[in-house]
Amino acid sequence: MKFALVDNTKAEPTKGTKGTCPNCGSELIAKCGNIKVHHWAHKGMRNCDPWWENETEWHRTWKNVFPLSWQEVIHTDTTGERHIADVKTDEGWVLEFQHSPIRSEERQARNAFYKRIVWVVDGGRLNDHKAQFQDVLNGCSLIKYGNINIFRTGRDNKSRLLREWAGSRIPVFFDFREYQERQSLRLWFLIPTQSQSSIYFLPFSVSDFIATSINQGLTELADKLVPDLASFLVRNEKRSSSFSLSLSPRRRSR
Ligand SMILES: [Zn+2]
Repeated sequence: MKFALVDNTKAEPTKGTKGTCPNCGSELIAKCGNIKVHHWAHKGMRNCDPWWENETEWHRTWKNVFPLSWQEVIHTDTTGERHIADVKTDEGWVLEFQHSPIRSEERQARNAFYKRIVWVVDGGRLNDHKAQFQDVLNGCSLIKYGNINIFRTGRDNKSRLLREWAGSRIPVFFDFREYQERQSLRLWFLIPTQSQSSIYFLPFSVSDFIATSINQGLTELADKLVPDLASFLVRNEKRSSSFSLSLSPRRRSR
């Protein structure tokens, strides 16, 4: 964890210090070695939150762009279950930064627990994931929605990550770590739709994502933009399938 309570204040680890876990209240020890990111660890046991994943530089880079008070926030539900949200915005949205593979049952459990949740998935963990996505991108069809370019591919595409997360009703952003050109840092936003045949996504700049989160725009994104896009895409799918139906008799007569 990046934070422990030291004298009842959120504190980052420094060599030799001890703190208290804000989630379970047990003692935490500062780990400030040269290999892993500096963090707090529970004495002789795993993290008290079973959903916690070991932090990487990638997690830290993401957390650090948000206000300190939003980072590692304890979220409690009505039954008293508690978990540590990576980031929780003032609007009440939890941003989960997911580096490791995650089973779909656990994903569903987290979605149900947090309710207002947005996933940011590390697509740069494996070179394979990046290459597969690039491959899919090259074969996508493009759909215009106003000035937005939406990318479409089939459910049976070659990208393992896309297939795993397809059908999510929760907003998901893939971070393929497209960091080469600083101006064009971008994520790929997987649009939640009910489509059984297609997956739709669009580029979303990192700076827009951060600004949307910070300027309390996630509710509008989830409650307005996503339904608008989804219903447009459903209409578009119906139109193109009736279009191809009307073409098929002609094809047969050839
Ligand atoms: Zn704990």
